[in-house]
Amino acid sequence: MILVMKPTATEENIQSVIQNVKQCGLDAHLSRGQDITIIGVVGNKHIFLEQNPELMEGVEKIVHVSESYKLANIQFHPAPSVIDVDGVKIGGDNFVIMAGPCAIENEALMMEMADVVKQSGAQILRGGAYKPRTSPYSFQGLEEEGLHYLAEAKKRTGLCTISEVTSIAAIQAAKGVIDIIQIGARNMQNFELLKAAGKSGIPVLLKRGMSATIDEWLNAAEYIMAEGNENVILCERGIRTYETSTRNTLDLSAVCVLKSKTHLPVIVDPSHATGVRNFVGPLAKAAVACGADGLMIEVHPNPSKALSDGPQSLDPPAFFALCEELKPYIALAGRKFIHV
Ligand code: PEP
Ligand code: MN
Repeated sequence: MILVMKPTATEENIQSVIQNVKQCGLDAHLSRGQDITIIGVVGNKHIFLEQNPELMEGVEKIVHVSESYKLANIQFHPAPSVIDVDGVKIGGDNFVIMAGPCAIENEALMMEMADVVKQSGAQILRGGAYKPRTSPYSFQGLEEEGLHYLAEAKKRTGLCTISEVTSIAAIQAAKGVIDIIQIGARNMQNFELLKAAGKSGIPVLLKRGMSATIDEWLNAAEYIMAEGNENVILCERGIRTYETSTRNTLDLSAVCVLKSKTHLPVIVDPSHATGVRNFVGPLAKAAVACGADGLMIEVHPNPSKALSDGPQSLDPPAFFALCEELKPYIALAGRKFIHV
């Protein structure tokens, strides 16, 4: 439920409504826009409704939110959320590129890639330390050691860092070491992991499950936010369809749908969506055009030798070329691409 305040409502009116909400054992979330102030109410609203909130001083109207996700709902927070990750702003007018190897293979490779990503103008360095591989015999990642190489790469370049966590123990290992934790497609509905990510307070990039509807995805985001962590970024990475010529099918319409349903920033990952390096560039441009707030792109110094996801990885020259090609598209979409 949302309480829309009158434009003439005073601060005292707002605080008194919030107090009333809290006295009924519910949570109040204040969102102040340029023209309108709203108070989102989460919890069992029946007790509160008995108090006739529409008659409270300063309240203009009550809007009932039919979706089960509330904190992630655009109705709760009409302005786009801008997530500040150590000075890098994700969402709003900004455009971010997250790039790096699928897996952190060793320290030297991570440092080399950090320099490449820095030189490209991209703001966020990725690298997988805990790899959720389809086969148990494939390279599983360097785990904690890998996270420390990312931290070293940040010291070297100043880039923000992101890495996937696959367990609650990995979240603990990541805390204070990297800037953003990624919850991958395979764990999108691992509710215990989502709750732990929420409790950690670390910004979270939540990838779409390969068979998840947008509604399920937003409910997964709600799990994180309900624990008090509002720093959630969504990432469309392709869904499973009957089409086999690409690894997944990139659902670009999801970007438009999300923009109508949530205030959370939306990143597109054309690398995992297609599994084919030649398709990464065209879909990256399409993602910019349809309103994405950023991209995640896999880059490797020698893709044919990569321990994971080589066929979809760009080599550094191709990545530099793509970043240059993207600039006019980003400008045309009215976004700022600010280097760190
Ligand atoms: C990844 O980013 O390396 C990854 C495994 O992604 P996804 O969860 O989208 O498959
Ligand atoms: Mn990968």
